[in-house]
Amino acid sequence: MKRILGLFLFLIAMQIPARAWEVVMHEGRRHVPIEDVSKFYRLRDPLVNGPAFTLSGASKTIRGRAGTREIYINNVKYILCFPVEQKGGRILISAMDVTKIIEPVMRPGLIKNAHAVRTVILDAGHGGHDSGANGQRGIEKEAALDVVLRAKRLLEQNGYTVRLTRSSDVFIPLEDRAAFANRFLNAVFVSVHFNKSGGGGASGIETFALAPRGVPSMDEENFSYSDLKLHPGHGQDAENIALATALHSSMLRHMRLTDRGIKRARFVVIRDIRIPGVLLEGGFMNHPVDGKLIASPAYRDAFARAILEGVGRYRSAVSGETSYQAPSAVASATDKTSIPDLRRNVSPLGMHPMLNEAVQRAADSLKTQESTAQETQPDAH
Ligand SMILES: [Zn+2]
Repeated sequence: MKRILGLFLFLIAMQIPARAWEVVMHEGRRHVPIEDVSKFYRLRDPLVNGPAFTLSGASKTIRGRAGTREIYINNVKYILCFPVEQKGGRILISAMDVTKIIEPVMRPGLIKNAHAVRTVILDAGHGGHDSGANGQRGIEKEAALDVVLRAKRLLEQNGYTVRLTRSSDVFIPLEDRAAFANRFLNAVFVSVHFNKSGGGGASGIETFALAPRGVPSMDEENFSYSDLKLHPGHGQDAENIALATALHSSMLRHMRLTDRGIKRARFVVIRDIRIPGVLLEGGFMNHPVDGKLIASPAYRDAFARAILEGVGRYRSAVSGETSYQAPSAVASATDKTSIPDLRRNVSPLGMHPMLNEAVQRAADSLKTQESTAQETQPDAH
């Protein structure tokens, strides 16, 4: 009996990955194979069908397709920083996307320094002479303020303190909105906007989180030097994506419009703040279906409920309600020293040793997952 148990334990031990992440260079950037991602998160072996892949476990799934920047984590759509690649018959994800999107979304409880949320800063987009987008049934500045006032009521009823960047039809410069948000601690920032498309054909909701340092914004295909600037919002990369995840999935549930995904940008209001922040786009003013919905009180109430629910989901996700034994790759994702410094090195960003280190640290924690299970997380300060 003892021998069988011994063999059993040995077989379990064999299942435990005992190797580092395999790093594959592609276009000067570090990538890791999806097999390593699935092992790290203890998901089943990848199911691969041509360019499509699925990694699944008891309660979590990651699926995507090589050649695209779209990935679904637990059925929420994210636009990756870099495309998923297929090379030599294997599917690869950029190390940046593993540390900046997959890790904080898969294990938000491990985000370092995520503070309990007591205050919500609501930012109604535009105002005064700046009307924002317009459609046949209304203008963005008015719809955004109405949603914000509805959300304020709901949040206060649920015990939150709420502060507004504007509570009437006035123009507030973007920099002032960010400066206002920076006066609060234990707070999150939610900016409410609506979209407009060129031809009027676009529909759906999308959520923006700050593009991490070194990542091109959504509207730029190519990397530019301004992408390397470090902004106050980068101190909360992991929190930003966790907040975007919570709010975006709540919006999808309540508002039921097309999912345009969680995207990255460097808008001033999410770039210059020192608290977690997102910018929500609740539909297209000039789309016939979206525009009609946006004009209705029922839809605006649904948007307000989505904000309440999303903030609540973020709060419980980062409060560490789920406990994890293994050290976190987030320790490196949020560690300021892992941000590449290009002043001394102008080689392609993905090759920079500091960025590599982030991946390597994740690799080390993978390697020692079992032996350090009893220890506390290594402190990255
Ligand atoms: Zn806007």
